[in-house]
Amino acid sequence: MNIAIDGPAGAGKSTIAKAAAKRLGYIYVDTGAMYRAIALYIIENEIDVENEDEVAEACSAIDIQIKYEDIQQVYLNGRNVSAEIRKEAVGNMASRAAAKKPVRDRLLSLQRSIAAENDVVMDGRDIGTFVLPEAEQKYYLTASVKTRAERRYRELVEKGETPDMAQIEADIEKRDYQDMHRDIAPLKQAEDAVYIDSSDMTIDEVVEKICGVSSAEEKK
Ligand code: C5P
Repeated sequence: MNIAIDGPAGAGKSTIAKAAAKRLGYIYVDTGAMYRAIALYIIENEIDVENEDEVAEACSAIDIQIKYEDIQQVYLNGRNVSAEIRKEAVGNMASRAAAKKPVRDRLLSLQRSIAAENDVVMDGRDIGTFVLPEAEQKYYLTASVKTRAERRYRELVEKGETPDMAQIEADIEKRDYQDMHRDIAPLKQAEDAVYIDSSDMTIDEVVEKICGVSSAEEKK
């Protein structure tokens, strides 16, 4: 059983997908983390992301492993990078790197093989349209730019940072544009995906829509 959840940055995909997977007893696969791991390698090795040959060479030197130790852990050449890849700079580089063919080719087989071997809730940008076109359930989860920026702002404040709201909104808009307008596997709703705008919905309401069970009912 494969459930695909696509949508723009900050739509709440990972929170929803994680909760849905837990409730259903499936594995949650965060494909963005894989792009982020490649982005981290690009940053650390000062690779020119606009130079496709350099990027292709980097991809052949990269080993990415996904392990499930309660939650998904990402290993880049043997090193657990799960925390480091959460930085804003890594997310922004991931969006640039994700437009490059060698990067997408590198990750496709990894994503498909995890889905072939397990029941998964997989989130990303091209899961329903490209990676798992035969997924049994597909959702396109979005929210307004304002709502997504506010959520991101709160997350950063909780981490003790002092974020700039205007900068967050600008980054989200830029990332949306890059992800939706690239030539390969751009972000778009699959024709057979259910559209969910979570701007005015709670996490529970969205999870309920996906799993068909409310947590209130579960607690009974
Ligand atoms: O979801 P997250 O913000 O972690 O993803 C980082 C970047 O990786 C996205 O902005 C997008 O460009 C890229 N990505 C992608 N395809 C996926 C998952 C992520 O292109 N399936």
